[in-house]
Amino acid sequence: MNNFSYTQAATTKEATGRHKDTPLAAYLAGGTTLLDLMKANLDEHPQLIDINPLPLSSIEQTKDGLRIGALARMSDVGEHPLVVQGYPAVSQSLLLAASPQLRNMASIGGNMLQRTRCGYFRDAAFPCNKRVPGSGCPALVGDNHNLAILGVSESCIATAYPGDLAVALAAFDAVLEPGELIVAVTIPAAAHAQRSAYLKVRERSSYAYALASAAVGLEVQASTIRAARVALGGVGAQPWRSREAEKVLTGQPATEATFRAAATAALKGAQPRKDNAYKVELAQNTLVRALQQVAG
Ligand SMILES: Cc1cc2nc3c(=O)[nH]c(=O)nc-3n(C[C@H](O)[C@H](O)[C@H](O)COP(=O)(O)OP(=O)(O)OC[C@H]3O[C@@H](n4cnc5c(N)ncnc54)[C@H](O)[C@@H]3O)c2cc1C
Ligand code: SF4
Repeated sequence: MNNFSYTQAATTKEATGRHKDTPLAAYLAGGTTLLDLMKANLDEHPQLIDINPLPLSSIEQTKDGLRIGALARMSDVGEHPLVVQGYPAVSQSLLLAASPQLRNMASIGGNMLQRTRCGYFRDAAFPCNKRVPGSGCPALVGDNHNLAILGVSESCIATAYPGDLAVALAAFDAVLEPGELIVAVTIPAAAHAQRSAYLKVRERSSYAYALASAAVGLEVQASTIRAARVALGGVGAQPWRSREAEKVLTGQPATEATFRAAATAALKGAQPRKDNAYKVELAQNTLVRALQQVAG
């Protein structure tokens, strides 16, 4: 770990001002990702600006939807009645993420900025295009069992964001407020947000990243789907909003046949590798089950 200085910021102005003075500085929230990366010499910062004194922890209903402060803790947001009732997929994505200890420590802003869990990226002994552009991607022929099959390229097949929350947010058009310091995440209110779910398939239930996950929201009237939102996690180079699946669902009866057709459409462009081909069927089944859960 390299030497760094530590300061606390009392106001957002102070925080952004210090960042401007030291452009390679980093904001410190829960530290559960940042310090890991620094200890492994994968991230280097001359200064950490602790933003925990900032008043950015509130969770409130606004006239347009929900506003979640960047420093609200994952567990507080996941358990908050406004989130549980109005945005079940968001609540479930948070409560299925990491371990209880991590959720108590980790913030919403930090969660959005976590980096890939590709094993080659996290081991400085290997080349990696994401760490050192042009150095190569050993995952193409090496172990790629938990890497992406949608939106990949020959230079990188990682799930750049391995977390859960942003998958749920991708389904609901959430917006990051501008500026380099994230102050809040806003999620628009909608009928499909209220009738939503996040389903995560992982290697162990205590804590693990998703092999595949699905965030879905449906607006159903008289057994017909009027509006749908679909996002997949664990399979895309980024949280994977599937407008193709949404198109297949909209205007159709809420039946298993419709859900299967949507799942086929969602994975149509998949480019599986030797170890992660299983994810095509896994993601399709995860999506069908998530849709059944909200339709039922
Ligand atoms: C063992 C383990 C298992 C995990 N499993 C999961 C899982 O299953 N699902 C999942 O979703 N996550 C998982 N995580 C990741 C965890 O959710 C993140 O580590 C956590 O959310 C990061 O939040 P933090 O507040 O600790 O961020 P920090 O580590 O403090 O910061 C992370 C990054 O965000 C930047 N940052 C923080 N706040 C702001 C802000 N307000 N504005 C601008 N930049 C900011 C920091 O500078 C840093 O670059 C796991 C982590 C570990 C260690
Ligand atoms: S998949 Fe991406 S992160 Fe992993 S080794 Fe290849 S370039 Fe690096």
